[in-house]
Amino acid sequence: MIEHREFYVGGAWVGAADGRDFSLIDPATEDACGVISLGSVADADAAVAAARAAFPAWAARPSAERRALIARILEIYEARAEDLAQAISLEMGAPIDWARRAQVPAGANNIRALLAALDDFAFDHPLGPRVPGLQILHDPVGVCALITPWNWPLNQVTHKVAPALAAGCTMVLKPSEYAALSARVFTEILDAAGTPPGVFNMVYGDGAGVGRHLSNHSGIDMVSFTGSTRAGREIGRAAADSFKRIALELGGKGANLVFADAPDGSVKSGARQVFNNSGQSCDAPTRMLVERSIYDEAVEIAALTAETTLVGPSSQSGRHVGPVVNRAQYDKVQSLIEAGLAEGARLVAGGPGRPDGLNRGFYVRPTVFADVTNTMTIAREEIFGPVLSILPFDSEDEAIAIANDTAYGLTNYIQSADPARIERIARQLRSGGVEVNGKGTGPGAPFGGMKASGIGREGGLHGLMEFLETKAVSNWPQA
Ligand code: NAD
Repeated sequence: MIEHREFYVGGAWVGAADGRDFSLIDPATEDACGVISLGSVADADAAVAAARAAFPAWAARPSAERRALIARILEIYEARAEDLAQAISLEMGAPIDWARRAQVPAGANNIRALLAALDDFAFDHPLGPRVPGLQILHDPVGVCALITPWNWPLNQVTHKVAPALAAGCTMVLKPSEYAALSARVFTEILDAAGTPPGVFNMVYGDGAGVGRHLSNHSGIDMVSFTGSTRAGREIGRAAADSFKRIALELGGKGANLVFADAPDGSVKSGARQVFNNSGQSCDAPTRMLVERSIYDEAVEIAALTAETTLVGPSSQSGRHVGPVVNRAQYDKVQSLIEAGLAEGARLVAGGPGRPDGLNRGFYVRPTVFADVTNTMTIAREEIFGPVLSILPFDSEDEAIAIANDTAYGLTNYIQSADPARIERIARQLRSGGVEVNGKGTGPGAPFGGMKASGIGREGGLHGLMEFLETKAVSNWPQA
């Protein structure tokens, strides 16, 4: 049985001041596999105090030294890749091979992209020849609260920690209570890399406790949050009172516009993208909009893709998908599948309940609904499970209108062979990203959303800028 009752504060592992036990449940078996302590207000306060104390010296370090620390972190991260994969697989149910080939590399890629962005970035530079003597300094924002979810745990932690370190910020990470194991290994990596005491602190806690306390804390200058739109809204409100900087990466309801001239395999790979990670990706293309002339064929292919997507235990090798993270998520996905049926969508694959032969564990059947209308609950709400909704369209304008008719605006998708059409549509989609013909935007590209999908961008240079204040200084001494 795993037991992690310590937090990392001021460069040392410390016991909880007033911890509450939180059982870790293996999503593949529903058995308890460990226990962590959830921190209290006193634990969060101690971490903020350590980060505040460390801030002036870390902010004053030459940027090359901060970069060197991040490069060391990457080296140790790669050396401990297997520990990270095992931790993720156990805590949130990612099949072990998926954890190895997707979850863990996502974090390394983020760190690498940040290092590359730093190579091209000047923390100080003149504004330009038209304003002689005016110098621009990029200062760290200050002490940051980094609050992360469980679905791509290392992707999200690295998207925040690496640029915060590079910027000269100090920080308190509050990982999801459902992703405590990978956060523990990640913290060991930062410790082994020689991160100066207090620069990085990690406290376990839940949203209502440590999460909310950090978002309201007078010692915190910025909250960088990834998670639900519900919590993001609350964090935004708290930040308004104290003028904290916020970066919010929230939910999504991506549209995938599939035209009759789409490249072969577009429907299959679009459906796979929804089922991967058991549907627990904020940028999943969960609304597939299909041009009427290929609609019936697309529905058939998507249904077949669902039926041939294997579901199985996280610890087993192979290309199957695993369970969803916990009981609450399982119940939410089931109730949304029921809502799809009740509102008249046509079920063509999967459906309620567990896949055959899996009676224990939070397993969901890869599910496809056809004839969905954009007013149905399954087209409007983020399901965060392996559930695809297919909607027909007759014209390009109608497809764009359906795609944009959502509270969210994270990532949309276009499948077409027509370059002029791709450009026209990409310009009109209201989302932070548009992926075309199966090509991802890649590490280092800005990632984030519009509307209820959030505020700000993560990744590469854009992610770094979130952690910097821009200062203009006149009469800067000339060399
Ligand atoms: P969640 O919002 O419940 O929790 C996320 C984190 O916030 C956890 O660490 C949690 O403890 C904390 N938290 C919860 N309530 C809080 C509050 N009131 N104040 C401060 N902290 C609080 O979300 P989740 O269930 O962990 O993650 C799933 C959601 O996250 C989905 O909606 C998904 O789309 C979204 N998500 C978005 C992105 C993105 O980049 N846009 C990435 C991953 C997940």
